[in-house]
Amino acid sequence: MNNSRFIILHNALMVTMDDELRVFRNGGIVIENDRIIAIGQSLDIVTEFSSNSHDVIDLHGQFILPGLINTHVHTSQQLARGIADDVDLLTWLHHRIWPYESNMTEHDSYISTLLCGIELIHSGVTCFAEAGGQHVSGMARAVELLGLRACLTESIMDSGNGLPSSWGIRTADECILFQKELHKKHNNTADGRIRIWLGIRQIMNSTDRLLFETRDTAKELKTGIHMHVAEIPFENQLVMQTREVEHGTVTYLEKIKFLTSNLLAAHSVWVNENEIGYLSNSGVKVSHCPAAAMRMLGFAPIKEMLDANVCVSLGTDGAPSNNRMSIVDEMYLASLINKGREVYSNGTTDPTALPAETILKMATINGAKAVLWENDIGSLEVGKKADLIVINPSSWSMVPIHDCISSLVYCLRSENIESVMCNGRWIMKNQKVMNVDEAKIISMAKQASGELLKRAGIQIPNRMNLI
Ligand SMILES: [Zn+2]
Repeated sequence: MNNSRFIILHNALMVTMDDELRVFRNGGIVIENDRIIAIGQSLDIVTEFSSNSHDVIDLHGQFILPGLINTHVHTSQQLARGIADDVDLLTWLHHRIWPYESNMTEHDSYISTLLCGIELIHSGVTCFAEAGGQHVSGMARAVELLGLRACLTESIMDSGNGLPSSWGIRTADECILFQKELHKKHNNTADGRIRIWLGIRQIMNSTDRLLFETRDTAKELKTGIHMHVAEIPFENQLVMQTREVEHGTVTYLEKIKFLTSNLLAAHSVWVNENEIGYLSNSGVKVSHCPAAAMRMLGFAPIKEMLDANVCVSLGTDGAPSNNRMSIVDEMYLASLINKGREVYSNGTTDPTALPAETILKMATINGAKAVLWENDIGSLEVGKKADLIVINPSSWSMVPIHDCISSLVYCLRSENIESVMCNGRWIMKNQKVMNVDEAKIISMAKQASGELLKRAGIQIPNRMNLI
């Protein structure tokens, strides 16, 4: 026998999310090091492999799923949770978020990502796409330690529209050079769990030169681009005025050949029918963030995008836009919001819109396509990486279960997620995050957040009669 590590998980209901959408009532899976080497009926798996195995785990009554994928999360904003609730968009951005981000240190980003990562793991996430934040090097240290898989992206802007004057803004060329260095230093590190992507924060803070260079550099480095796209009507209006196109950001990006299959377009709320066609034809991936959209952006035409074969996945966005970094909550919201959007002429909504199996695809295999990692993750299949979660459904929130797929979308809570494996290693077991001391991180986060807000001069007004 060589030094391989074998783990067998068996006697579980196993949702594979493979091409045939197989669900084993009583399934088993064999993991050798970081890969899945067998999958099938529990009895067959145990008979064939148990003599090889170092670790045979009976998961009676539990579920196994592929690890969930959060395709839009601002890890460096975790320390800003609660700093901009119930305020208008301009206050949110100019008086809270920009001062917060422009005062962050690398250490803040490290602590923020650790705190965010703990919440991601508890919600069953094994892989996430950073939306573009501060200090990728701090994020990378945290991701390596936590054991997660991630596509990390720096927040990139080369135009100071609305930004604090104290924030030194790089030129387009400097932005590209900086990201190339990040790529060289961090891409494919942490046993291949970290990839470095290029970022465009949003079109209103980008020159054309930055857009062109980003497009070409992504091709050269064979990596992805993460960008906030068509978030608010004002963005589209500004693009129409300044860049002379008939409709908004997506139309402009189509015109300059920026729309490609390696673009992850976050939100994409304000897109028309033609633009949905452009997204579909070019293979652009969309990250739908239901909670953040409801808070300040609007209803995205998700059903229309899915009907047009656009690959739509799910994201939480950042803590100041959502507060909850739980992809489990986003699954529930995505289904409800998009049913609620389909209003019939008699005023009732469409309960058949975005059914549970569609939502599960968005959180798994579509997520894997969005982060350009679909050959390795997103479903439980032989040869793929062992990224999976174990769910204990025997709680007041889920019992009784008559339809396991609908239960996973409409009843599941983060609290039902029992264990999480990434790259063949347990990163949470029996609800204990394995690689960091949660209590210590929480205490460090409280301190770092307080100091950062003070440094940034951000004051949160009291509510009600706080005495
Ligand atoms: Zn975002």
